Amino acid sequence: AKARGNGDWHRYTDGLEARGAERARVTAELRRALDAGELRLHYQPVVGLPDGDLLGVEALVRWQHPERGLLGPADFIPYAEGSGLIVPLGRWVLREACRQAALWLRAHGDRAPRTVSVNVSARQLHEPGLAAEIADALRDHGLPAHRLVVEITESTAVEGEAAWATVARIRELGVRVSLDDFGTGQSTLTMLAHCQVDQIKLDRSFAPVPGPDTIATAVAQVARALGIETVAEGVETPAQAQRLHALGFARAQGFHFAHPMPAADIDAALDDPAVL
Ligand code: C2E
Ligand code: CA
Ligand code: CA
Ligand code: CA
Repeated sequence: AKARGNGDWHRYTDGLEARGAERARVTAELRRALDAGELRLHYQPVVGLPDGDLLGVEALVRWQHPERGLLGPADFIPYAEGSGLIVPLGRWVLREACRQAALWLRAHGDRAPRTVSVNVSARQLHEPGLAAEIADALRDHGLPAHRLVVEITESTAVEGEAAWATVARIRELGVRVSLDDFGTGQSTLTMLAHCQVDQIKLDRSFAPVPGPDTIATAVAQVARALGIETVAEGVETPAQAQRLHALGFARAQGFHFAHPMPAADIDAALDDPAVL
C-alpha cells in the first residue's frame, strides 16, 4: 500500500509540474499573440423584447491561433488573469471595441448598435488607471461615453471600496456599468446596496423553461424598484423569450436571437436586417 501511495504522489506532483509548465507555455504564447495581432472580437447582439430589434452588442474576445484555430475565452482568459496579462489584453479589448463602435456609428448613423459592452476582469478593476484608460479610449476613437457599457461580475466588484470607487469614476465619465451573471454570486444584494450600476444581466441559469421563475421575477422587481435596466442572457428558445418578456425583461441576448459574430457580419445585418 505504501509503494502505491508513493506512486500516486509522484503522479500527483508530475501533474502539478505539467500544469505549471502548461500555464507558462500558454502565457508566453498569449503574450506573443497579443503583439502579433492574433486576438479578435466577436459581437453578440443584445435585442429588445418581444420584437428582437438590435439595441446593442457585447464584445467577446477570441484568439485566432495559427495552429489550433479559433479559441474561445475559456481557453485563455484564466491564464491571462493568472499572469496579469489580462491588463494589456483588456486594454486591447477596450480600445478595439471603441474603435469598432465608432466605425459603426460613422457608417450606419441611427441604425448602428446604440451600445457596445465590454467585459472587465477583477484585476483590471483594481488597476488605479482604469477610468483614465477608458476616457482615453473614448477620446482617441471619438466614441460618445454613453455608447460604452462596462460589464463587471459580482465576484469582481464586491471586493471592496477601491473597486466601488473605480466603478463610480467610470460612471462619472458617462459610461454605463452593468452587473454581469447577476444572481450567481455570494453577495448580489450587498453589491447593489454599495455600488450604483445602470444595468443588470440576469445569469442564463435563471432562464430555463419549464422551470421555476421565482428568481427571474424577483430580479425584475428589484431592478424596477431601483430604476436599473435589465438584460436576460442565454436565451435559447422562443418560450424563454416569451416568458422573460412577460416577467418584465425588455432586453435579451442569446442563441435564439444571434450568436457572437465577426464585426463584418454585424455590418451585413445592419445593411439587411433580415440577416440577423
Ligand atoms: P459572459 O460575459 O457571460 O458572456 C456570455 C457568454 O455566453 C459568451 O461565451 C456567449 O457566447 C455565451 N452565450 C451567448 N448566448 C448564449 C446562449 O443562448 N446559450 C449559451 N449556452 N451560451 C450563450 P464566450 O464568448 O465563450 O465567453 C465566455 C466568458 O468569457 C464571458 O462570459 C466572459 O466572462 C469572458 N470573456 C469574454 N470576452 C472577454 C473579455 O474581453 N475580457 C474578459 N475579461 N472576459 C471575457
Ligand atoms: Ca458579459
Ligand atoms: Ca454573463
Ligand atoms: Ca457568464
